[in-house]
Amino acid sequence: MESIAHGVENREWQSQMYQEAVAQFDRVANLINLDHNIWERLRYPQRSIVVTFPYRKDEYSAVETLFGYRVQHLLTMGPTKGGIRFAPDVNLGEVAALAMLMTWKTSIVGLPFGGAKGGVRVNPRELSLPELQRVTRRFTAEIINFIGPNKDIPAPDMGTDEQTMAWIMDTYSQQVGHSEPAVVTGKPPALGGSVARREATGRGLVSLLPSAASHTGLRLADARVIVQGFGNVGRYAAIAAAELGCRVVAVSDVHGAVYDPKGLELGKVVAWVDEHGYLDDYPDAEHVSNRDMLELPCEILIPAAIAGVIDVDNADKVQARIIAEGANGPTTMEADAVLADKGVFMIPDVLANSGGVTVSYFEWVQDLQNYFWSEGETVARLREIMNRAFDDVLSISIKEDVDMRTAALIKGIRRVAEAKLVRGVYP
Ligand code: NAD
Repeated sequence: MESIAHGVENREWQSQMYQEAVAQFDRVANLINLDHNIWERLRYPQRSIVVTFPYRKDEYSAVETLFGYRVQHLLTMGPTKGGIRFAPDVNLGEVAALAMLMTWKTSIVGLPFGGAKGGVRVNPRELSLPELQRVTRRFTAEIINFIGPNKDIPAPDMGTDEQTMAWIMDTYSQQVGHSEPAVVTGKPPALGGSVARREATGRGLVSLLPSAASHTGLRLADARVIVQGFGNVGRYAAIAAAELGCRVVAVSDVHGAVYDPKGLELGKVVAWVDEHGYLDDYPDAEHVSNRDMLELPCEILIPAAIAGVIDVDNADKVQARIIAEGANGPTTMEADAVLADKGVFMIPDVLANSGGVTVSYFEWVQDLQNYFWSEGETVARLREIMNRAFDDVLSISIKEDVDMRTAALIKGIRRVAEAKLVRGVYP
């Protein structure tokens, strides 16, 4: 451990986030006695591409230079996979940390990918649509030799969407001389995007609840569920939980939460949000703050908004028996320990929210084969893959007497390590 522990400081990827990602990896590597050569190798991203490039603003004579990044953490398992974000503070350290986390996430669910992440340091809200298009196309051109269906497959992330993916796909296709939908996922359906992609993360998460409930001895019928965040993940998680027979008692958005201990009428809540944008003034429920909602009585809590909401100050007051993390990193490390002491069963983010990347994998497979599945087939395969991963993680957790988060990382890291060992070192 001594020779490995000093390696992160003063590297090009140095950042708080990168240090935390490596610390988490080191903890598990130490626990499983990971081969030291592989341990050292996995602490660094395999490829880090930094580009600077110009784009022309709408005012024709104004040209601005932007910074862009693409980090591929691991090329051992197949092509790399991960989002591209447009945000004013994107940097190499952040993207490198997220690329490493994508390696573990794809490995935990058994997908044939390594992790990647990318971004452009720009505020997309300050750009017009034509400007956004020019930025996207020029950034794609700058990294074009490093992406491709067999190399690295971007997807949407913060500040990017289906339209961004369509522009990347078009730019790439123009350069290679034929249409290549498999170069990105999260595309519009007209270009070969997958059905059920939008619902995938929420639905995938909820598909793990029956197993989690049976393991913890919880009766799912009428179990009270609280969902924080009513976006892509939270909305569909709430709908799927209600379909399972659970009673969804509270949901929230950035402004606050609505609560009805008898169970919310979800159809009405969805219609209200579609019409008004937010839950403000929703009539048939009590209004509480996002912070207070986490402490309301419930059996299942699904934090599906932002990071760090369950912390050392409120962890002890959380009443849920099961927490399924829809958001990335909603529970702080200190809170994790408090919840574990209380016997709360945790389905960690790397497993609980892996439905998104799993359906992205399906999109890639379908594009490569030019053969498209129905929604029923897609959802059934999503459930199968996620539940298999859940069973594996639970069995590691029981056999090796570790919490579910550690067990998930053990599964992800072991699979990667095995592949690296048998591939050997070139030359
Ligand atoms: P989204 O933007 O569609 O929805 C976010 C929701 O959270 C909205 O209802 C918003 O009002 C609410 N929100 C925002 N800030 C909040 C705050 N400070 N407090 C409470 N609520 C707040 O985003 P999403 O795609 O649903 O993603 C939610 C989380 O899940 C993020 O952490 C994201 O990284 C993670 N995630 C998403 C996917 C996916 O497929 N969409 C996959 C894996 C992980």
